[in-house]
Amino acid sequence: MKTPPYGGVPTCTFSFSMTPNDDQLTNFLQKSGLLHDPAKPKSKSAPTSGAHQPQPKREQPAPRRKKKRHQPPSSSPQKSAEQQKRRNFSPQKSGQKSSPSPQKHRFNRGKKSGPRPPQKTEQRSKNTPQYQTLTPGRNRLPQRFNDQGEIKVVPLGGLEQVGQNMLFLEWKDDILLIDTGVEFPSPEHLGVDMIVPDISYLVERKKKIRGVIYTHGHLDHIGGAQYLMADLGHPPMFATKLTKELLLASPDDERIAKKFRITQIDRRTKLKLGRFAVEFFHVNHSIPDSMGVVVKTPYGSIVHTGDFKIDPTPSDEKPADLSRIAKVGNDGVALAMVDSTNALVPGHTISESVIEAELGKLLKSIQGRVILATFASNIGRIAKIIEAAEKLGRTVFLSGRSMERNVAIARKLKYLRCKEKTLKRMSPAAEKMDPGKVLILSTGTQGEELAALTRMAAGTHKMIRLNPADTVVFSSSTIPGNELAIVSVLNNLSERGVRRIDNNQLDSHVSGHGQAEEVKLMTSLLKPRFIAPIHGELYMRYGHRDMIVKSLKFPKENSFIMKNGQGVVLGHRGARMMTDREAISAAPVLIELGEKMGEHVLADRTLMADGGVIFVTLGLEKGKLKNLDVRSRGFRYMGQKHEIFKMIEKDVRRMFDQHYDPSRPERALETTIAKSIQKLLWQKFKKDSLVEVVVSP
Ligand SMILES: [Zn+2]
Ligand SMILES: [Zn+2]
Repeated sequence: MKTPPYGGVPTCTFSFSMTPNDDQLTNFLQKSGLLHDPAKPKSKSAPTSGAHQPQPKREQPAPRRKKKRHQPPSSSPQKSAEQQKRRNFSPQKSGQKSSPSPQKHRFNRGKKSGPRPPQKTEQRSKNTPQYQTLTPGRNRLPQRFNDQGEIKVVPLGGLEQVGQNMLFLEWKDDILLIDTGVEFPSPEHLGVDMIVPDISYLVERKKKIRGVIYTHGHLDHIGGAQYLMADLGHPPMFATKLTKELLLASPDDERIAKKFRITQIDRRTKLKLGRFAVEFFHVNHSIPDSMGVVVKTPYGSIVHTGDFKIDPTPSDEKPADLSRIAKVGNDGVALAMVDSTNALVPGHTISESVIEAELGKLLKSIQGRVILATFASNIGRIAKIIEAAEKLGRTVFLSGRSMERNVAIARKLKYLRCKEKTLKRMSPAAEKMDPGKVLILSTGTQGEELAALTRMAAGTHKMIRLNPADTVVFSSSTIPGNELAIVSVLNNLSERGVRRIDNNQLDSHVSGHGQAEEVKLMTSLLKPRFIAPIHGELYMRYGHRDMIVKSLKFPKENSFIMKNGQGVVLGHRGARMMTDREAISAAPVLIELGEKMGEHVLADRTLMADGGVIFVTLGLEKGKLKNLDVRSRGFRYMGQKHEIFKMIEKDVRRMFDQHYDPSRPERALETTIAKSIQKLLWQKFKKDSLVEVVVSP
């Protein structure tokens, strides 16, 4: 398509925030004929003193952090009449729930000519009178935006799930990737080991890929590297020290890691990757060495915060670099993509140092053996727990491969300072030593089937037998979807009579994702012209957007709710959503045993799990049906089996008589008969089964 599908006249083709006190923008708008009363917006200037003020602090008492489920906001947010009108022009508006089907979208090309009535502009300007609180002072975006081509920002994963975080920027001949994450399968993904984003669009354009930037070392951001890098042609990778080590340790097969081309960077690094100039800023998270990414473009910076929280007293590193973030904001941010995971949780995260102090006190107070379960990736906290245990004379037994690996990396990079003898691999010694001198550090906080804690609780662990003198501490929170598995572990622990301590009794965990106040602070420091919330389910991102619109008076039309495969396009005329037609395939790719698994495989497994399998064999002789054999596995209607089988046989004979044609391949007949049987079973039981028909001539 030659004409960029902004649609409509210039006034509605871009949704620049009206930044009334921004002289440059005002200038630009006047020149474009969009602003007719320059005096008016200027009069609304906010005092510059408010420039870097954090959000109006509504004194919310910092609540004790508990994982709460939130009601999703209405899925069809009400639109103002203005927005409704704009929808006619604009290909895809923020907040608009759209279907992946390209046919559904239609934008009105008929309205391309003719200026928009001036009062519309006025009205918009009036609609966003307080935007200056968000973009105070001079936002140094260029006065005029010469057309230097469109820049696409396209998420491939991470927006409709927790996991698979991956996003790319495409600008002419250059593509820049941010993160390559995995998602862990849910119970309905029968037999699937891992889920990764669909990279077919990138594979076709792999010559354009200039590099992959990693925000931090969690698997939902780095775990896909082992599956995706070869197909992407092993582009250069850029990661901080810890992230690099974790990337190298992430593949199941060491040979894969050897092919990674990782350049170590830090928060001061400046990169030039094709047209993209990339800089960074330091943020806190539940893993050290996390960074936000700033991509400089002629239209202002595109900022990706990565996963972040703002912790003034973190355990293992510096607080998030707020002054640097403010500087990035002052230099002019076009688009900010901010972590949404905990945006709906009010208040501010508890500092990691508070959690550590609590855990330290707790360890001191426990007499017997301690089994402490936490996320293996929470390297900062693990280091502090081990150091505290050492002070109390406890030997730390590490349980779980990821725990051993991450502790080794933490020691190597000096995030953990402890004596060699304090650390032990899990061994029968943990059962024989004085219980008061033992701390077992374990994975399995989510009830994972094979994790040590799950097996200890079930009494099937080879080395450890839990007893009522033991204390199990959960320093974790429940990841949605794992509730049932965790309940099963809790049940087992209760039956063994062990003492259990979790977040509800003590501040033993805090999330790595900033809560509402941190999200607001980040946004107000960045002062973006457009926002597109990332990281989290749809309801989290809508909630995040609504909160920013409400509390920061951010113009709603400048916010974009992206989808996997359908992001934002930035150009000299502003920003817009990609149209449905421009959207690219982003269906998750299932991985089993390191290989891609076809969707039909999962579909077959689902059928088998639902209603079992029916096998039908037709033996032919001279074009006549000689033998008919019906068998089943996992088919639960055994009491009526005889009757059902008779019914199936009758149906098969009928279909055979109707459809048998010796000139056609057997496969066609097999499919026809299988479909007929499936229909029959559905009519009778309202259940699907897998039906396999074999015609042997
Ligand atoms: Zn993370
Ligand atoms: Zn993440």
